[in-house]
Amino acid sequence: MALPKPTKSLTLSESSYLIEVLKGMVLTMGHVIKNIFDQDRFRTIEYPDMRKPMTARYRGAHRLLLRPDGAVKCVACMCCPTVCPAKCISIVAGEAENDPAEKFPVSFDIDMLRCIYCGFCVEACPKDAIRMDTRIYEINAYTRQDMVHSKAYMVNLMDGLKPAAVQAYRADHAIRPHGHTPDEPPVA
Ligand code: SF4
Ligand code: SF4
Repeated sequence: MALPKPTKSLTLSESSYLIEVLKGMVLTMGHVIKNIFDQDRFRTIEYPDMRKPMTARYRGAHRLLLRPDGAVKCVACMCCPTVCPAKCISIVAGEAENDPAEKFPVSFDIDMLRCIYCGFCVEACPKDAIRMDTRIYEINAYTRQDMVHSKAYMVNLMDGLKPAAVQAYRADHAIRPHGHTPDEPPVA
């Protein structure tokens, strides 16, 4: 197929693109100079020692909450695995020793590689046993198996955080998503 012919021939300055390159450089330098004198425009967050403030509604890694007696609040009702669109929650239920009518999760695993952070599990829980209010977004591991968060991991999640992160968490934990009361501290 024949190439279309140019409708007009370019002048020397147009064909060398010199003017356009200079215009681009002036625009870039304008932004550089503006940013030097107004550093708030591009404040650097020195991660991981500093963290960007998260909104109260940010959904981070899941944690499991405990009752005052130290047992997990979860009663293995299976609402969360039922509602989970990614089918990434697996719970094995057991009967409580002193009350066979009461159940508890013998194991509670969430495959974080499949989780889509929709928060449906939190919304569905009738016992307020699972929350995604940790603000933790560094969810990574060397193996696929380690990306499966277990009951023990989710109960003790806040323990692994650096003190600065825990402090930041406590500073803003008065603002709770999903209408939770601010009186319950993280499991740290
Ligand atoms: S956040 Fe959504 S996808 Fe992830 S475990 Fe909960 S219900 Fe499943
Ligand atoms: S919905 Fe709540 S109580 Fe039911 S299994 Fe999930 S975490 Fe446990």
